[in-house]
Amino acid sequence: MRYEVIVIGAGMVGTSIAWHLQKNNSKVLLIDKKSPGSETSYGNAGLIQREAIHVHPFPRQPIELLKVLPNKNTDIRYRWPALLRYRQALLQYWRFSAQSSVQKIEKEWQTLIEHCTREHQEMITAASAENLIRRDGWIEMHRTEAKFQAAVEVAKNGRAQGVEHHVLSLPELKKLEPNGNFEGFIGAIHWLNSWQVSNPGALVKAYAKSFQDMQGSICECSVKEILPSGDGWQIITDDDIFYSDHLVIAAGPWSNQLIKPLGYDLPLFPMRGYHQHFETTHQNTINHSLVDIDKGFVMGPMQQGVRITTGAEMTLMEAEKDLGQLSAVLAFAKKILPLNDQVESEPWCGSRPCMPDMKPVIGASGKHANLWFAFGHGHQGFTLGPITGRIIEELIHNKPVTVDVSAFGAQRFASM
Ligand SMILES: Cc1cc2nc3c(=O)[nH]c(=O)nc-3n(C[C@H](O)[C@H](O)[C@H](O)COP(=O)(O)OP(=O)(O)OC[C@H]3O[C@@H](n4cnc5c(N)ncnc54)[C@H](O)[C@@H]3O)c2cc1C
Repeated sequence: MRYEVIVIGAGMVGTSIAWHLQKNNSKVLLIDKKSPGSETSYGNAGLIQREAIHVHPFPRQPIELLKVLPNKNTDIRYRWPALLRYRQALLQYWRFSAQSSVQKIEKEWQTLIEHCTREHQEMITAASAENLIRRDGWIEMHRTEAKFQAAVEVAKNGRAQGVEHHVLSLPELKKLEPNGNFEGFIGAIHWLNSWQVSNPGALVKAYAKSFQDMQGSICECSVKEILPSGDGWQIITDDDIFYSDHLVIAAGPWSNQLIKPLGYDLPLFPMRGYHQHFETTHQNTINHSLVDIDKGFVMGPMQQGVRITTGAEMTLMEAEKDLGQLSAVLAFAKKILPLNDQVESEPWCGSRPCMPDMKPVIGASGKHANLWFAFGHGHQGFTLGPITGRIIEELIHNKPVTVDVSAFGAQRFASM
């Protein structure tokens, strides 16, 4: 069967790309080995992060490095096999984390983030998914005075870029979240114009259903091989062989694996996170996602229960689950809310697709005509899926592009 465009990967990114292309009259096939939104785009914290105008640099100050070294932190842990395999990407990450680079990177990054809520809104409306969205922000809770004051200053600077916040005293926090025990905290920042999704996987599925309603096709099968074929592409899956004029790789942390046989090797590396749901009760109901910024975890009100999401674990994709970080986080979470009954017997884990310069790869592959890349969105791929979808649609259809994509091309790694 031949399509105008095939998109590989039905996470938030690939589904949004397929949606935009189909809406603009392309005949699209969306391929995923699972149903849409079943991997990283299922298990995340569900925040559409309008406030995320800053990237996540590698710690460079000796004091910060010393804190990470014992590998006991709750926000970030590392495993030696991953450090070894991704050493070059990590070295680049360290270099890009210098203050002068971060300033430039953040300017480019912000050209994507500024569109996030508006772009999601268009798709939410089309997909009739309003029931999954809460627009009352999320709360960043602080335990230490110096870090809190620094965060408040940073928040104030964000106003110029359209990020709205309100600084909360402890009584104000308690008023918003009467079930929380905030002993040990000193205050919080309420990010007002970010959104909370009550079931991230269901939002991707709603977008995918909207894509199908526009006559888009989905195949649940695993891509085994990608071959150039005339001016287009041949995609060999475990189910069938498909042909297309254009091919988009949007397979999140698996993307590099798919393009390596075509001669690409981008420094994409995974940052794993875990989650566990607890039954919602009258005693632990929360109205916002609560982030313990010092311990590095999120407590989110989800349809499945209260979702506790961990920070980052630098580990291999194929590594066994290591529940040490989640257990450490749960000890803190259970002091804030009564979390008694686990919903699943086994916690979920999934990997953020990260690039060393903290920016996604969006645009033409560089070496092959009609091959497009859209991956590496790191900590904010759920937020940035829809704007990425719009950009790829505009590029493929040769239209003026909403965002200057020169900062996001795969070619930026060509000389490294
Ligand atoms: C714990 C945690 C919390 C997070 N919280 C947030 C948050 O609050 N807000 C935010 O914006 N982001 C958040 N993120 C990041 C966000 O989840 C990711 O950036 C985003 O989901 C990546 O989307 P994606 O579509 O690129 O990848 P994915 O959702 O992983 O989708 C890739 C798809 O490709 C498919 N695939 C791979 N290989 C093949 C193959 N060979 N054949 C067929 N299909 C294939 C997979 O099955 C998968 O469905 C979080 C991440 C984690 C881990």
